[in-house]
Amino acid sequence: MNYLSTRNNNLRMTAAQAIAKGLAPDGGLMTPQVLPRLAGNALESLKDMSYQQRAVYVLNGFLEGFSSSELTGYARAAYGGGKFSDPEVAPVRRLDDNTYCLELWHGPTCAFKDMALQMLPHLLSASLRKNDEKKTVCILVATSGDTGKAALEGFKDVSKTQILVFYPKDGVSDIQQLQMVTQEGGNVGVCAVVGNFDDAQTGVKKLFADEELAQQLAERGYFLSSANSINWGRVLPQIVYYISAYSDLRREGAIEKGQEINVCVPTGNFGNILAAYYAKMMGVPIKTLICASNENNVLTDFLRTGVYDRNRPFHNTLSPSMDILISSNLERLLFELSGRDDKQVTEYMEQLAEKGSYEVSVPIKTKLHQTFAAGYCDDAQTKETIRRMWEGQHYLIDPHTAVAFDVLDQYRKESGDETPTVVVSTASPFKFCSSVLDALGVQEHAAGTEILDQLSQLTGVEVPQPLARLKNKQPRFDTVTEKEHMVDQVLEHLR
Ligand SMILES: *Cc1c(COP(=O)(O)O)cnc(C)c1O
Repeated sequence: MNYLSTRNNNLRMTAAQAIAKGLAPDGGLMTPQVLPRLAGNALESLKDMSYQQRAVYVLNGFLEGFSSSELTGYARAAYGGGKFSDPEVAPVRRLDDNTYCLELWHGPTCAFKDMALQMLPHLLSASLRKNDEKKTVCILVATSGDTGKAALEGFKDVSKTQILVFYPKDGVSDIQQLQMVTQEGGNVGVCAVVGNFDDAQTGVKKLFADEELAQQLAERGYFLSSANSINWGRVLPQIVYYISAYSDLRREGAIEKGQEINVCVPTGNFGNILAAYYAKMMGVPIKTLICASNENNVLTDFLRTGVYDRNRPFHNTLSPSMDILISSNLERLLFELSGRDDKQVTEYMEQLAEKGSYEVSVPIKTKLHQTFAAGYCDDAQTKETIRRMWEGQHYLIDPHTAVAFDVLDQYRKESGDETPTVVVSTASPFKFCSSVLDALGVQEHAAGTEILDQLSQLTGVEVPQPLARLKNKQPRFDTVTEKEHMVDQVLEHLR
């Protein structure tokens, strides 16, 4: 099976090329030529498999040119060997008769980015081998917090790869900064940039466009690439956990064979919920995809009205990983809903670039309404939901997950839809201790890593091991750079 660009149906690549390139040369996103349908009894047979086996089963259908034994090795390296603190990797918790929570934060960095970024480095380095690429890839990342650490952990000591992460000096939480500057591995680099996330991101984009740098690096045997969520190698591993969650519900007897479920996903760049959409198209009985946003509610408006309009104020919220006004992966959804009409997708994306908005056709609107529901909540509702879930259900959640629970609540009240629903939980509450303590009514917060124990003592919930271990770790990286000098950091890292 080949991959094609959402902006040009005739542009074809193999799976290995699509993963190595990340983005199509025309700016489109590489997308599978056909979505493999799950075989008739697949969801039943998957019931008794481990997460790793499920991953191999799903990836196999998409990755021509990768053998099952190769994929088995990658799945073991990504999800085995104690890397995930829960043996089930992505466990489903039952909250009540029709509400379940899919916990995606048991990986090495305690956020759902691990689900894909533990797998991507293996897919990428295999792709480079298959493409006979002689140079070593250097991954550059600009991060607002979660992605940088997850990418570092995923790429650390993976052969033929280097990784350098730039984070805004005063733009990440203390815990997030500590997670990054204590990173281990022989091929990793971490650097603070004076400024905010935009400064770091703009700086990295300039590095990618710098031809002189590319030339210099090529002479040293390197080329630059990105671990951004538009890479197919990041979307694909995310499809696995939706299929896995359905199999788990079947295994537990929570649902009948073929019974429909809804999923509710806290959304930013539209990668996670897009994976759920693909799972539905592959045959998982998912009825409605509920898209949950914070006050940056551009997707709520789009899914309700068909008008995407990024011309609106940007809000810094308690769920920072969803503070996004351009959701890149939406392009792949438009491609599917337009009947794979590359011209139409190109037009929408041109309008978005030129005037910051576009309106989709009536047939696309109809399909959006058939498949998606959408809602949003503000910071006050987010905190209220954390408190309510703790006091009512004794279930501790992070602010991103709280947005999803609040939106599900609103959806159920408005629609009366009581379909069993899987809420996706994207981060450990301990990654966002001060917001969670605030929500629980605690005003005085301990400093540094002590705040982890403070939240643990208050709730009796254990601190996840990867965060608890931060206490004993020594910082390895203390470089701070002006954004004009990021290029020197790359040259220094790849000396
Ligand atoms: C990245 C992230 C999200 C948003 O996921 P998208 O795939 O960008 O929609 C939500 N919650 C957390 C904790 C994240 O790190």
